Amino acid sequence: MKVAFLDRDGTLIYEPPDGIIRPENFRILPGVFASLKSLKEHGYKLVMITNQDLTVNDDSEENFKQTQKILLDELAREGIAFDEIFLCPHSEEDHCNCRKPKTGMVDAFFHEHDIDLSVSFVVGDRENADGGFAQNIRVRYIRKGTNDAFPSFEEVRKLMNTAS
Ligand SMILES: [Mg+2]
Ligand SMILES: [Zn+2]
Repeated sequence: MKVAFLDRDGTLIYEPPDGIIRPENFRILPGVFASLKSLKEHGYKLVMITNQDLTVNDDSEENFKQTQKILLDELAREGIAFDEIFLCPHSEEDHCNCRKPKTGMVDAFFHEHDIDLSVSFVVGDRENADGGFAQNIRVRYIRKGTNDAFPSFEEVRKLMNTAS
């Protein structure tokens, strides 16, 4: 199966300079709806892969819950649903095995599904976390700038057809 592994913060939604996404500053980045719809239409499974240190501030978990609900509701209104959502709630110091670029979030998913690595990809805005994750699961990394518009399906297709 074909999988689009998508980072959340700075990739699907706006990430403010202080890195704290709250309902007040929530917004979905340009291009997300159209591109995710096209990916679905072309048979891609949508999988969210997000590092969220839920202990960094007192309200981190609440902020995450609220903004995640807004995101999923807005996507649903456009007819878009994620097939899987994987979250690492740990901090760097926890030394967990699921914080990107590590692959613990998706290890079981990879065991359970036959994933076509040649057409699957990661979209993310952090070279270390997202680029490293893509490398570790051996799929193409599509890099986007933090808060840039989400690449269109045509751009994704073009990139996937280019030798890496
Ligand atoms: Mg990000
Ligand atoms: Zn973790």
